[in-house]
Amino acid sequence: MATFTDYLKFKTKNRHEFINITPDVNRVIKKSKIMDGLVLVNPMHITAAVYVNDAESGLIKDFQEMLQRLVPTEGNYKHNLTGEDNAYAHMWRQLMGHQVTMPITDGELDLGPWEQIYYAEFDGEREKRVLVKIVGDRHCE
Ligand code: ZN
Repeated sequence: MATFTDYLKFKTKNRHEFINITPDVNRVIKKSKIMDGLVLVNPMHITAAVYVNDAESGLIKDFQEMLQRLVPTEGNYKHNLTGEDNAYAHMWRQLMGHQVTMPITDGELDLGPWEQIYYAEFDGEREKRVLVKIVGDRHCE
C-alpha cells in the first residue's frame, strides 16, 4: 500500500465561493500514480466545507439561499462577541459537511454520473489550503 499527500491552495476573491475542485483532485491522483484506493479531501479550515454534489449553478444558488435562510450572515451570535464576525461561516460549514472520502478506480476518481467535488468557502479573501491524502495501490490486478 502506498500513500501520497498534496495540498490545493486557494485565495478566493469573494468571501463566499463555491469552487469545483474535481479536476484538481484528479490531477493529484494522477501525480500519485495510485491506481486503486481512496482519496480524502479535507478543507483544513473551520469556515470552509468540502462536499459532493451536482455542478449545476441553480443548485449552488439554492444552497446559498438555504444557508442564508437557516443561518443569516448577520445575527446575534455569541462567537462574534469574541471580536470575530464569522459565526455564520462556522455553522454553514457544519451544514455543508466537513470532508469527503472518495473511491479511486483505474487511476482516477470513480464518481457517480453527476457527482463533483466542491470546495465551499464561507470566509474567504485569504490564503486557505485543502489537504488531499491518498491511500491505495500503484498496481491494479
Ligand atoms: Zn470564527
